[in-house]
Amino acid sequence: MPNTITTDLLVIGAGPAGYTAAIYAARASLSPVLVAGLQPGGQLMITTDVENYPGFASAVQGPWLMEQMAEQAAHVGTRIIHDIITTCDFAPADGGPFRMVGDSGDVYLAKSVVIATGAQAKWLGLESEQRLQGAGVSACATCDGFFYRGRNVCVVGGGNTAVEEALYLTHHADHVTLIHRRDSLRAEKILQERLFNHPKVSVVWNSEVREIIGTGTPSVVTGVCLADTQTGVEQTLATDGVFVAIGHSPNTGIFRDVLTLDDEGYIVTVPGSTRTSVPGVFAAGDVQDKIYRQAITAAGTGCMAALEAERFLAHG
Ligand code: FAD
Ligand code: NAP
Repeated sequence: MPNTITTDLLVIGAGPAGYTAAIYAARASLSPVLVAGLQPGGQLMITTDVENYPGFASAVQGPWLMEQMAEQAAHVGTRIIHDIITTCDFAPADGGPFRMVGDSGDVYLAKSVVIATGAQAKWLGLESEQRLQGAGVSACATCDGFFYRGRNVCVVGGGNTAVEEALYLTHHADHVTLIHRRDSLRAEKILQERLFNHPKVSVVWNSEVREIIGTGTPSVVTGVCLADTQTGVEQTLATDGVFVAIGHSPNTGIFRDVLTLDDEGYIVTVPGSTRTSVPGVFAAGDVQDKIYRQAITAAGTGCMAALEAERFLAHG
């Protein structure tokens, strides 16, 4: 029998943005309900060292940091529910509260909503990439790196994630090849330096992955076919694993018909605020931010969203 959960503020998402919104809302006596989704803790659950979240003199582990945020949110009075929101009605015909339905069948009625559903890994879109997932193709070095002890792997991408994944994989693999489609990386300089100075790493510039090669029965990754972006010349590189690290897409599928999104699917917010196209619905973190995409900026906008929701509930 589905339950109906009624609240002043529903937070959708359990990453830095969602937990921070919940902490501020709970301390404002709004008794928030937070629905955690498929990945409680969000993206930092799949990384190791976090060195740039203020407050810690040395690196902390991503999962540990997120555990602390969850405990803090619960401690100040957030009700955390393990469910996934599947539909949202932000314009209910009866003029009543916003109505969300979870995968569990439970119904959530809320006077205001903070959306903090974050983002997820992008894929190259190759048939071979899809076919060989779990057989040598991965988007998470911290989850799968262990399986490549003593082997050779590739990482595709040129951002912070790709460089961090490559450096992490050096703990396990014999050799790591970073494949990038341009001749310079967009990763932070300090990470680039570590990468270029690492004896186990080489970089293949100006190259796109045309195909991931699998052999055997069942097929496992044995190589990649690369094309030079300037000459078109193809080459095959032998490898035991391919880690795709080419960025993220916002988790906004369920908001497509109910909120204004931009061309890339990010929720549009009023500049300088977390207000969306629907009064009373706020968006924080990576789901509305394609520029900064950091844990601290997600937490910062989570704080803004809670303060704006508090004002909305008080004054409309
Ligand atoms: P997320 O962390 O993406 O969390 C989204 C939450 O929404 C999840 O809990 C998910 O379960 C939930 N959700 C999604 N859909 C639904 C739904 N339908 N119903 C209910 N819940 C839902 N940033 C740094 O500052 N420092 C770093 O060192 C760093 N390292 C990183 C390493 C990796 C490998 C990656 C991928 C990212 C890293 N980042 C780092 C970026 C940082 O993780 C993100 O900017 C941050 O997690 C964004 O927080 P968020 O709360 O917006 O969303
Ligand atoms: P990103 O910064 O968007 O970088 C994506 C990389 O993948 C780019 O180099 C891009 O190439 C490449 N790429 C994109 N599509 C591709 C395709 N189809 N084929 C081949 N290459 C492709 O993404 P990210 O590295 O995941 O980082 C996301 C956000 O999280 C960033 O804001 C980042 O700062 C943050 N983050 C921070 C840390 C940290 O602070 N330590 C760690 C991880 C992530 P081009 O360069 O040519 O565009």
